[in-house]
Amino acid sequence: MKPAIHQSQLDMLTGKCAIMYEHRYINNIKVPPGIAVHAGTGVHQGAAKNYEHTIEHGTLLDTEAVVEIAVSAFDAALEKDGAIDDSPSERGDAKDKTVRLARLHAERVAPARMPAAVEKSFRLELGNYPIDVVGTIDLIEKNDELSDVKTSGKSPQESIVHSSVQLSAYALAKNAMDGKPLNTEVAVRLDYLVDTKLPKHVPLHSSRNGIDYQNFLKRVELANQMIESGVFPPTSPGNWVCSAKWCGYYNDICAFGRRGRSHNTEGN
Ligand code: SF4
Repeated sequence: MKPAIHQSQLDMLTGKCAIMYEHRYINNIKVPPGIAVHAGTGVHQGAAKNYEHTIEHGTLLDTEAVVEIAVSAFDAALEKDGAIDDSPSERGDAKDKTVRLARLHAERVAPARMPAAVEKSFRLELGNYPIDVVGTIDLIEKNDELSDVKTSGKSPQESIVHSSVQLSAYALAKNAMDGKPLNTEVAVRLDYLVDTKLPKHVPLHSSRNGIDYQNFLKRVELANQMIESGVFPPTSPGNWVCSAKWCGYYNDICAFGRRGRSHNTEGN
């Protein structure tokens, strides 16, 4: 079978930081993520189980059951992968955040959704390309809208939903799975759970059509060229991700992190 790239790897390689992709997937150096990632994993898991229950039984889970699932998933992810910023206080804060946002999703978001499929795996077979794209669509609703849940400490810019590569991959994959013309327009959404003083839900709506799919396929082509040539440029040194807090390669591994700077940006 042809090699495949996961849509999250594609995002890292052609968006976040290409040399981060090299460290992780070419040199196989694994480092723990920030602890906030595990809070997101927990909230995701609670939401997914709630939607699965709705599809199977026609009713939502109790809110406290969703919170319990989210906290267990947070604990399991932290146990398995560790965290760059793990400490008793960070751990307590992240767990509290998991509880708040899982509860927000269960009470404010899930009741308004009509799930048709949850955590749907796909393989986007790209005949003219040397690699395929694989991934998992978080939620497909009965009206065919695709969505993903995001957790954040601040309100998102609306532009983020229009530019998400992840949502373009989902939409193209959905057309392929349904046997529809590949340029069919698909409605997409990001459900942001924002951990402000009073946690709030910010739904961001957009769509994808042929223009976005062409853009996505160019990205796949570029990713393949980068992998074949072995050229993986670093992100801009001013990018928020290029810091000890957000990149596990920053302190000791990456030549473009702390070791390559006379003034480090750990406080980013
Ligand atoms: S330290 Fe900066 S350049 Fe290096 S992998 Fe991390 S984000 Fe990329």
